[in-house]
Amino acid sequence: MRPTNSIKIEFESRSVNEGFARSAIAAFAAQLDPTIDELCDIKTAVSEAVTNCVVHAYPDRLGKVYISAAIYPDRRLVMKIRDVGCGISDVAKAMEPLFTTGADDERSGLGFSVMQSLTDRVRVRSKIGGPTTVTLEKKLSSKGEKDGSL
Ligand code: ATP
Ligand code: MG
Repeated sequence: MRPTNSIKIEFESRSVNEGFARSAIAAFAAQLDPTIDELCDIKTAVSEAVTNCVVHAYPDRLGKVYISAAIYPDRRLVMKIRDVGCGISDVAKAMEPLFTTGADDERSGLGFSVMQSLTDRVRVRSKIGGPTTVTLEKKLSSKGEKDGSL
């Protein structure tokens, strides 16, 4: 299935840019006429993925964060958040609830769990010392599902 629309953005891994990423994806998703809940879920999931790039991928330097998003005819929104930071040695372990390598109390190891609970599918591809790509997929409800006529 080919996307009906797509975008790409790139920004530095500054935490101030997390808000930019959330808003940019929300603005792109708006053309699907999402519910408020759906929009909140999308923004929060993207935020978690971008925060991971800022905090984990580039712990002691700035790097680039790349986001692409595409809309498919079946109302699926597919978002890819990619960094070229330190990579993840064990993706399955990293995705376990409460697993964290974060040294400070701010990290609770729940970012991937949040992404999984707010979207339909989360895929992570990573190589140590190489790129990490988190793919988030969310199917948005149709107008009929929203107004109860289906
Ligand atoms: P929280 O998200 O609750 O603040 P957290 O970031 O540690 O805590 P997750 O988002 O679930 O929890 O991530 C789990 C672990 O996966 C991280 O602690 C880190 O080791 C690793 N990780 C996640 N994203 C990346 C990334 N982009 N690059 C390198 N490591 C990552
Ligand atoms: Mg996290």
